[in-house]
Amino acid sequence: AEKKDKEYVWHPFTQMQDWSTRPQKVIAAARGVKLIDTDGNQFYDGVSSLWVNIHGHRKAQIDKAIIDQLGKVAHSTMLGLANIPAAELAEQLVGIAPPGLNKVFYSDDGSTAVEVALKMAFQYWQHKGKPAKQKFITLEQAYHGDTVGTVSVGGIDLFHRVFKPLLFTPVHIPSPSCYHCQLSSDRTTCGMQCASVLEQVLSEHHAELAGLIIEPLVQAAAGMLMSPPGYLAKVRELTQKYNVLLIADEVATGFGRTGKMFACEQEAVAPDMMTLSKGITGGYMPLAATLTTDEIYNAFLGGYAEKKTFYHGHSYTGNPLACAAALANLRIFRDEKVIEGLGPKIEAAADKLQTIARLDYVGDVRQCGLIIGIELMQDKARKIPFPWEQAAGSRVCLTARQYGLIIRPIGDVIIFMPPLASTVDEIIEMLAIIERSVRESLE
Ligand code: PMP
Repeated sequence: AEKKDKEYVWHPFTQMQDWSTRPQKVIAAARGVKLIDTDGNQFYDGVSSLWVNIHGHRKAQIDKAIIDQLGKVAHSTMLGLANIPAAELAEQLVGIAPPGLNKVFYSDDGSTAVEVALKMAFQYWQHKGKPAKQKFITLEQAYHGDTVGTVSVGGIDLFHRVFKPLLFTPVHIPSPSCYHCQLSSDRTTCGMQCASVLEQVLSEHHAELAGLIIEPLVQAAAGMLMSPPGYLAKVRELTQKYNVLLIADEVATGFGRTGKMFACEQEAVAPDMMTLSKGITGGYMPLAATLTTDEIYNAFLGGYAEKKTFYHGHSYTGNPLACAAALANLRIFRDEKVIEGLGPKIEAAADKLQTIARLDYVGDVRQCGLIIGIELMQDKARKIPFPWEQAAGSRVCLTARQYGLIIRPIGDVIIFMPPLASTVDEIIEMLAIIERSVRESLE
């Protein structure tokens, strides 16, 4: 399989770090928090298979739910038809979502969930008789997916710049990242300048703004940039004040990652739209949902006759197998009290991170629940990064692999997103591997 993979498969994001010339592991099986390659080697899944896996691999209840559903129907279209798991899941998602999010529009992955939100928000204002409201505010280092629409509201130079001529232009505001903050040199006197900039932009441009899209609390793909406490609540307050829709992209932060079911709950924020994917099926299969309010849904009533239909829909939308997996995922959250059990795991990680923070080449450690970023710096006192060509982050991750842990860097930020099912001991062991890998790769 390794030879065939090399010959025929174009992996996402790999060539930029020249990982393609390095041995790929071929994963043949998985169990619990471990992946097993074709040679039988076991690895901790330290990125939850790209931040999706929650309860571990081969979770019996999810396996069973999919097999049971397979015995009924694998797929039927949502265009003009309904299916049982999709309807039940929608009810449950509404039940756990922040207040006011009462309607669920299904799609297939994080990018499409965001694409749906953007198009819905845009069209909503057309129907409300405010056609000038067409633009979106986004954060400078945002990542909301890889489709053309989501890249348009993205701001990561490395991924997005090349596509610029193809994209629509949003209004950018600074990413509220405390460690990298350019707005205030001293964290203790923060004063949330980032929120003041937002207010200025909103007051100037609100008449042409359809929505503001944000990854609540953590800009994940930007390298786990974390906003100061209170920023998200302020964003909600200001978007309400200036009549701009708030789209919370919880694709990465949703389903327990931050220590609560959704990151919005951490600051008691109820957005106008919320996008979900990744963990929605417990990490088993693609599914996504865009949740929105009755107010927005009702603006699309009138349907075909009044040309108010939302003309958007994917072939596998609301796939019954994926929805059955998602229902099992939510049942496990309830039955196994997953959120309630996260406290000691988060604390154990925080403890171990204090040791890692003291390493010579670690500039910053950032943690929000079980979302962890460890930013490497060549000179930590003066915040001077390693030269790009030294690939410090990649080197650390390749060393970690030799010690049985799969992690990936984003630039020189080591991303650690273990399955929520990891035990305290497993989390400590994985972080110990990271510590050792930083020492051995860089010191
Ligand atoms: N939004 C956020 C916040 C994400 O982190 C991601 C994926 N990393 C996406 C959207 C896109 O999701 P997908 O890769 O499933 O399209």
